[in-house]
Amino acid sequence: MRYIGDIYRPPSEAYSLIVQLTVGCSHNRCAFCSMYKEKQFYVRPVEEVLADLAWCRRQYRRVERVFLADGDALIAETDTLLRVLEYIREAFPECERVTCYASPKSVGRKSDEELCRLRRGNLQMAYLGLESGSDTVLRRMRKGCSAAQIVEAVLRLRGAQIAASVTAISGLGGRELWQEHAEATAAALSEMKADYIGLLTLMVEPGTPAADWVREGTLTLLTPQEVLAETDLLLSRTDSEGSVFRMNHASNYLTLRGTLNKDREAMLAQLRAGMDGAVRLKHEGFRAL
Ligand code: SF4
Repeated sequence: MRYIGDIYRPPSEAYSLIVQLTVGCSHNRCAFCSMYKEKQFYVRPVEEVLADLAWCRRQYRRVERVFLADGDALIAETDTLLRVLEYIREAFPECERVTCYASPKSVGRKSDEELCRLRRGNLQMAYLGLESGSDTVLRRMRKGCSAAQIVEAVLRLRGAQIAASVTAISGLGGRELWQEHAEATAAALSEMKADYIGLLTLMVEPGTPAADWVREGTLTLLTPQEVLAETDLLLSRTDSEGSVFRMNHASNYLTLRGTLNKDREAMLAQLRAGMDGAVRLKHEGFRAL
């Protein structure tokens, strides 16, 4: 399989066939992210993508899931996406779902009718980074869009029956903006009611602007206890009936899983056990991205 550069995927795509429809990230400017920095973004020629899929068909007997990488594969032209989806349907009739990363920009370039056609083509889910519901935090982190734009993108995907999996990042506001970050993120999550909500915890990567700000003292990282207090506020304020909530990323100090809103109190109890010291938190050295 030809992969161009390092490949990233959501944790839930661990067993999926990963095929690059795009290379790199269409934005590539977030201050906390180091993922695609070595890549210049482009949409791969569709014939190359189909050739990769044909090669995979010859190699693998059973492919139940396909993840279209890299960042923001939804930004490809609708006809290109439909061609790839059609090829997957024909070559991999056993494939149950196709997923990809998306952004407000890529969703905004599609009409509702195009999104519905993609869903009928078996695009089942898109992953979006909310990161924070606070526009102050998003601006500072150079996310390139507002919380309202991300909420709208998720609502449009869900309107087309494409499930949305949304991530936010604990600690992204630093000690300076933690309360605004928690409250605004809870408000955005409550508005979008994503099918899946994932909460990561900020880890500052060397070479990123965020790492410079930490060194200069303009971004103060939260302590583990402060992260849990922020998460307590976020979770207490999130009203997202039916959303699957996961805080089980390698970056998290504590693991939580449940379905909102019914499991919220149980998850808050686990969180508070972590804050009280009754449950041991992950050692800093075992955290990872
Ligand atoms: S966080 Fe996502 S949108 Fe931002 S630069 Fe990284 S991959 Fe691109």
